[in-house]
Amino acid sequence: MKVAVFSTKSYDRTFLEAANAGQHELVFFEPRLNLETSVLTAGFPAVCAFVNDTLDAKTLRAIAQNGVRLLALRSAGFNHVDLAVARDLDLTLLRVPAYSPYAVAEHAVAMILSLNRKIHRAYNRVREGNFALDGLLGFDLHGKTVGIVGTGRIGAITAQILHGFGCRLLGYDVYQNPDSLALGMEYVALPELFANSDIVSLHCPLLPETYHLINAGAIGQMKPGMMLINTSRGQLIDTKAVTKGLKSGKIGYLGLDVYEQETDLFFEDLSNHVIQDDVFQRLLTFPNVLITGHQAFFTQEALQNIAETTIKNITDFEQGRTSPNQIDLSELKK
Ligand code: NAD
Repeated sequence: MKVAVFSTKSYDRTFLEAANAGQHELVFFEPRLNLETSVLTAGFPAVCAFVNDTLDAKTLRAIAQNGVRLLALRSAGFNHVDLAVARDLDLTLLRVPAYSPYAVAEHAVAMILSLNRKIHRAYNRVREGNFALDGLLGFDLHGKTVGIVGTGRIGAITAQILHGFGCRLLGYDVYQNPDSLALGMEYVALPELFANSDIVSLHCPLLPETYHLINAGAIGQMKPGMMLINTSRGQLIDTKAVTKGLKSGKIGYLGLDVYEQETDLFFEDLSNHVIQDDVFQRLLTFPNVLITGHQAFFTQEALQNIAETTIKNITDFEQGRTSPNQIDLSELKK
């Protein structure tokens, strides 16, 4: 099958070509998919897209008009797709629901450890011959309370790792995960989780009901000096409210792998450009903020799983097989 692969980086190409082994005709495009670049999909029955491709109504209509029938997402999340329009256009949507929950969970824990022990600051200090310890004081994770919001695949593994550190676990989810319960996680309502957690780590999907889950009201309920970690989706957080929380000291540490307006920034080398996003630039001025550019998924195991599942998804579609990775659009309200 002829597949137009968008937002291709060298690593995507390496892993996809290895997994494909010549089965499909993959054509790699570096640009992101959006209305402007949708012209490139002419003659392709399938498109392979990533998290920051624009899959809004206009782009979907344009690619469908070009003959695209399959949208193979190289991601678990599909909040960037206009699902109602995809359904109306009869597009098939396949995704990679689980590629390596360990990759993201381990990155969340890496952020917790780095922020707590100020590894990002110590690294620079030592390279400059500054071996003073003032300002690098951390705390024992052992005995601290961690609130996990969303205890699915990634949240449950994050809980498991932190359990190993001797943390007390609070959880909030619409379903209780038996694995997390077995670790001794106590499920509580969100205000209680916020009020009692030294660290809050977000692992729920971005949905209309989770948009700006962390807003001024939620921050008001939190423990002074708490640590907030977001490796899920940027729009779970009202960044301006969080900036206020950092300024007042209510939020003592912030670790972000995702950012509300990341589409204009992440995955590109902008080191020679003036970044126009003042909200983002303000965040970078805080010594207690650590930001990575949506790299939590970025391990060899995850890239291999993403590539292999994506190729299998394309093959399943081509051969008319039903796939558990298909996003069910039939339940959407008309
Ligand atoms: P998952 O589907 O296994 O788990 C999500 C959990 O959130 C489920 O238990 C679900 O019940 C829960 N949930 C749903 N609605 C909720 C709500 N309103 N409040 C609280 N919890 C709710 O997904 P996962 O594989 O664990 O991934 C979690 C998120 O991580 C994804 O949605 C994605 O946005 C993000 N992610 C980020 C990266 C990265 O590189 N930073 C990579 C992969 C996934």
